[in-house]
Amino acid sequence: MNTPTPPYPSEAPSCSPWIQQLPPDSGPQRLGADTAADVAIVGAGIAGVATSFFTLRSTAQSVLLLERNQAGHGASGHNAGQLATYFERPLCELVEEYGFEGAIAAQKAFDDSHELLDLMIAESGADVRVDRFEGKMGMFTLNHLEVHLRNNLLRLRGGLRVEACVVSEEAEFLGEIPAEFTPLYTVVPQARICALLDSPSDRYRAVLFSWKGCANSALLTHQVLGYLQRHYPERFRYVDRTPVQRIVLNTADATLEAGTHKVKAGRVVLCTNGFTDHVVVNSQGEPLGSADARWVKGNIGYMAAFVETEQREPDALSFIRNTEIGGANPYVYVTRRPHELADRTATLTCMGGPERPLAPSEQYDPGTPFPGQMLSEMDSQIRPLAQPKRPAGTAYEYTWHGLMGYTQGSIRRIGVEPCNPVLLYNLGCNGVGFLPSVCGGERVSRILAGEQLAPSIFDPK
Ligand SMILES: Cc1cc2nc3c(=O)[nH]c(=O)nc-3n(C[C@H](O)[C@H](O)[C@H](O)COP(=O)(O)OP(=O)(O)OC[C@H]3O[C@@H](n4cnc5c(N)ncnc54)[C@H](O)[C@@H]3O)c2cc1C
Repeated sequence: MNTPTPPYPSEAPSCSPWIQQLPPDSGPQRLGADTAADVAIVGAGIAGVATSFFTLRSTAQSVLLLERNQAGHGASGHNAGQLATYFERPLCELVEEYGFEGAIAAQKAFDDSHELLDLMIAESGADVRVDRFEGKMGMFTLNHLEVHLRNNLLRLRGGLRVEACVVSEEAEFLGEIPAEFTPLYTVVPQARICALLDSPSDRYRAVLFSWKGCANSALLTHQVLGYLQRHYPERFRYVDRTPVQRIVLNTADATLEAGTHKVKAGRVVLCTNGFTDHVVVNSQGEPLGSADARWVKGNIGYMAAFVETEQREPDALSFIRNTEIGGANPYVYVTRRPHELADRTATLTCMGGPERPLAPSEQYDPGTPFPGQMLSEMDSQIRPLAQPKRPAGTAYEYTWHGLMGYTQGSIRRIGVEPCNPVLLYNLGCNGVGFLPSVCGGERVSRILAGEQLAPSIFDPK
C-alpha cells in the first residue's frame, strides 16, 4: 500500500473489539503441582478449545488444556472473525497437487465445519452472537474469474455447494469466458455489481458469492471453555499463565515442562497456531521437522474498525487487488456486523487485508501499538470501499493486529506427527483458521478415539 492521505498519530493503541467483549479476567489459574492427563492440549485459542470439546465428547479420556497467556488472547482475539471455508490457494490448484478425491474431501471437511460450530455452540449453551450470510468477492480480471469458475466446476463435480457468480454485461472480457463455465454464472447490469459490492466504482466486473458468517472467536473460546469446566469436572482441567517450555516424546507418552511443573501425558496436541517457543524432543527416533522454532511463517495482519450508528445488515465483502492470483497485495476485506451499544444496536465495520511478514528474529507482541502510517493507508484505500460516506481522517474506534501462521503449501496441519504418534497437531491457520480450527478439533478427536482415518491433505508430513 502507498500514497496515504489523512494523517493519524504515529502510533494508535492495539485494541481489539473481541477482547473488549470478554468478561473480566477472573485471575490466574496456574498449574500448581506436577500432574498427569491422558491428553495434554497446548494453547487455548479456538483450536485448543474445540479440540478439547470434541475429545471430551467422543472419548473417555482426561484432558489438560495448557495456556501460556490467557484463553482467546492469541489470534482468536485479534482476527476479523469471519466464518470462511476457503483455502488460501485455489481449489483447482489443490486438485492438481493432491488429486481430485483428496482435495474435494478436504474442501468438504471445511464446508461441513459450519455444522460442527453450530453443534459446539448448541451443546455448550454458548450465547455468542453468530451471523450468517452470503459474502461477496469483487473481481476485475478474467484470470481471477476463470480460476473461481474452475473451482466451482470442481465443486459441482465433487457434489459440494456451488457458489453463485454474476458477471457485468459491461465486462471487457465477457466474450472471452470459456464456454465450459457458461452454466456457472449469470450476466447482470453493471449497476447490480455496484449494488452488491456497495460501491459506485465500475472497476469491479464480477462478484462471487460464498456462504460465510462472523462471530467473536475469543468470546466463543471463553464460553466453550467455561462449559467444559462445568460439564467435565472429573476429566477436564484448564490452566493459564502456564507456558509449555519443553515436550519430551517417549514411546508411549510424553513429559511436558509447564511453568515450574511437569505433566505426564499419553498424547500431546499442539494448538499453538504454529509458533513454537517451546522445544519438542523426540527421545524415540528421528528429530522432528517441526521441533525448530517457527516452522510456520508468521504474517502480522492489521485491522481497523469503526462504529456506524446506522444499523446495517451483516455482510462480508472482499475486493481483489492483484491482477494475477498469487501476486502481491491479494485483497482487502470488509466485515459488517451488529454491535451492541448501551442504548441501541449499531454496526461495527471492520477493515482488513494489509499484512507484513514477521522477521525471523522478531518476537511478536499483540500489545505493540498500531502504526499510524498503516492506519492512514487503510483509511485512504479501504475506507472508501467500506463506507464511502465516512469522511477521510475520521478517528477509528478500534485498531489491532494479530499473528497468522502460514504452513509450507498453505494447508492446515491436522493429525499425527509421523516421527512419533504421541504428538498431534491442529494448527497453521494460513489466513483462514476459525472454522478450520473447529474442523481440526473434531478430526483430532476421532484420531484420539482410535478411528482409522483415510489419508488426508491435512496429514502432517
Ligand atoms: C488479523 C487476522 C485476521 C484474521 N481473520 C480471520 C478470519 O476472518 N477468518 C478466519 O477463519 N480466520 C482468520 N484469522 C485466523 C484465525 O484467527 C486463526 O486461525 C485462529 O484464531 C487460530 O486459532 P488458534 O487457537 O490456532 O490460535 P490462537 O488463538 O493464537 O491460540 C493459540 C494459543 O496457544 C498459546 N500458546 C502458544 N504457545 C504456547 C506454549 N508454548 N505454551 C502454552 N500456550 C501456548 C497462545 O498463547 C495462544 O493463546 C485471522 C487472523 C488474524 C491475525
